[in-house]
Amino acid sequence: MASAFAHAAAALAISRLKLINKPAACLVFTGIVLSILPDIDSIGFNLGVPYNSFWGHRGFTHSVTFSFSISAVLPFIFSKVEPKARWRIMAFLFFCNISHALLDAMTTGGLGVAFFSPFNNTRYFFNFRSIKVSPLSVTEFFNGNGFAVLKSEAIWIGIPTVLIYIISLLVQQIRRK
Ligand SMILES: [Zn+2]
Repeated sequence: MASAFAHAAAALAISRLKLINKPAACLVFTGIVLSILPDIDSIGFNLGVPYNSFWGHRGFTHSVTFSFSISAVLPFIFSKVEPKARWRIMAFLFFCNISHALLDAMTTGGLGVAFFSPFNNTRYFFNFRSIKVSPLSVTEFFNGNGFAVLKSEAIWIGIPTVLIYIISLLVQQIRRK
């Protein structure tokens, strides 16, 4: 995994991409939760679930099918969502959630990501793998190489996130004029 901070930063960057004009704070929060949610499968380590199995870490919860399903269902659960806005909200939630798997596939460790689960449980990495893999346990993160992980994420995720923020602010300013 990349760290929870990195996944949350990616969701914040996606919230600036104008899929939705001025997304409500609760929607951005939901996007952040979805960007971290796939790692819920790491509880399987304590339950003896094999890493490379369907429910193993980076298995089904990291797949396109999972992202599509959860982002398709959520806008229908909240009654306040206007029908016209549903597609955009779905797209926003989908990108927040799938960004997790995309970032994991760029990390330096663990098994790859089962993007096509449940149809194919093969694990994939991208050829470009420069994000240092983060320890799963919080204790390991803060006592181990957490700093090195954050440094690598600052370069490969933090800088693009800040750039997206700056560009979106500039575009906003230009449109106002
Ligand atoms: Zn993950």
